[in-house]
Amino acid sequence: MDMSFTPEETAFRDDIRAFLKAELDPALARKVRLHHDLTKAEMEGWHAKLQSRGWLAGNWPKEFGGAGWTAIQRHIFEEESARAHAPRIVPFGIAMLGPVLQKFGSKEQQDHWLPRILNGDDWWCQGYSEPGAGSDLASLRCEAVRDGDHYVVNGQKTWTTLGQHANMIFCLVRTNATGKKQEGISFLLIDMETPGVTVRPIVLLDGTAEVNEVWFDNVRVPAANLVGEENQGWTYAKYLLTHERTNIAGVGFATAALDNLKRVAKAQRHRGQPLSDDPLFAAEMAGVEIELMAMSTTNLRMLSAAAQGQAPGIESSMLKIKGTQIRQRLDALTRRAYGGQAMALTLEGNEGPEGADEALAASATWLNNRKLSIYGGSNEVQRSIISGALAKG
Ligand SMILES: Cc1cc2nc3c(=O)[nH]c(=O)nc-3n(C[C@H](O)[C@H](O)[C@H](O)COP(=O)(O)OP(=O)(O)OC[C@H]3O[C@@H](n4cnc5c(N)ncnc54)[C@H](O)[C@@H]3O)c2cc1C
Repeated sequence: MDMSFTPEETAFRDDIRAFLKAELDPALARKVRLHHDLTKAEMEGWHAKLQSRGWLAGNWPKEFGGAGWTAIQRHIFEEESARAHAPRIVPFGIAMLGPVLQKFGSKEQQDHWLPRILNGDDWWCQGYSEPGAGSDLASLRCEAVRDGDHYVVNGQKTWTTLGQHANMIFCLVRTNATGKKQEGISFLLIDMETPGVTVRPIVLLDGTAEVNEVWFDNVRVPAANLVGEENQGWTYAKYLLTHERTNIAGVGFATAALDNLKRVAKAQRHRGQPLSDDPLFAAEMAGVEIELMAMSTTNLRMLSAAAQGQAPGIESSMLKIKGTQIRQRLDALTRRAYGGQAMALTLEGNEGPEGADEALAASATWLNNRKLSIYGGSNEVQRSIISGALAKG
């Protein structure tokens, strides 16, 4: 197995770096680094810049207007973007719905929705989870009843990320309540401006509201918005989840967080010395750096296997657990490095001395990133997947 980049891949990386240097506004990169909420316009603006280079949908085949990158190229792009603190590509249209429509959507659906994702005409969000249907997703109850050439939808979705900006939501809905629970689910595209849709923000620990509840009260959805066949939605839902779990290790984000931690530890003083010289703190930083290097190698090993056509097995669950643990440790160390300066929760009314906003951002990031080990399949569930696979042999 060869894990070094080819000359073409190295040239590709240089191209990405040059683009980021030329196009990424330093003020925007600072906001991303400090974990401040980006406005809708900022996220859309970054999408548009990427799209002007044909790089917005690295994961889509060229026939659908994507870049058709290999898994290694996507990894390089994600790593360089994270290190430069570029905004994340909002995943719901590009990384989740796009691949589902390409595989299971009708020609009409592909022709209508895919270009709109690339152009930024629609902002999609994901309506999977419900109260009582998260890890056990197939227990979902939000129902869609056929009425002529429409479905009538009633029920609730929760944890809908960035739903406040969205005009479209892809939903799993129950179209049959008898039989095995997985067999009565359908995949429906719903216009959020339809009468009967209500979006309510959920305020998180760090004071922001990036997730929402979405309510449907007799919402009429054209039957043409059903993807694939009625009651076959579970198959499409699972296919989407394999795409949701790409870049699961988050090596680029962890590397950026480690670089930041080293910078902070060097600047902070402890008993008159740089904190980075404190043997206990230095040992903790070294420990997490070693873990990150090991994870990065496992990640490259997986990408190399994927490039040779092998499907990822339990490695993706391993990477989900390790990647999130490493980032949460890095967040905790950064917050510790700031000590008392990081105590306040929000910036509001805290116009402190130079650098105070960075210390507060460390706290906000630490709080916000509790989510990493929950979404995309909680770490406990990943452990069950690993132990189940090992028990089978
Ligand atoms: C910040 C954030 C953003 C999200 N964004 C979206 C979104 O945009 N769209 C969307 O549809 N969903 C979204 N989710 C939902 C996310 O996918 C669920 O939170 C996740 O699947 C866990 O489900 P739950 O919250 O219902 O917890 P539960 O499933 O109720 O789990 C509670 C606890 O029990 C554990 N547990 C559950 N089952 C098992 C088991 N079999 N074995 C061992 N332990 C178990 C879990 O690990 C967890 O610790 C988001 C969640 C968060 C936190």
